[in-house]
Amino acid sequence: MREKNRMCRSCGDEFAVNDRQMERLLASPAFAPELRVNQAEYEARLQACGGCPKFQGGTTCMLCGCLVPVIAYLKSKSCPFPGLDRWAASAGS
Ligand code: SF4
Repeated sequence: MREKNRMCRSCGDEFAVNDRQMERLLASPAFAPELRVNQAEYEARLQACGGCPKFQGGTTCMLCGCLVPVIAYLKSKSCPFPGLDRWAASAGS
């Protein structure tokens, strides 16, 4: 699966996040429940990224270099798309 999604020529597999790493991240204080958006908002963010030309390899925002499945959890993060926060634009839709 990772190989299928791999499009970035600069980053190797070591930069992909597997399920176990994701679980560990979500258990860390940086991802405490009060710092996270709710599940519906998280999924809306992922959906917005899925339709974005800056989303690469099924994981990465090419504008900020962030792993979308990770940072989309955080209330403090926003979409860096120029002139349009695509996450905000998709919220509530
Ligand atoms: S620019 Fe915004 S919508 Fe596009 S991949 Fe980055 S975070 Fe997602």
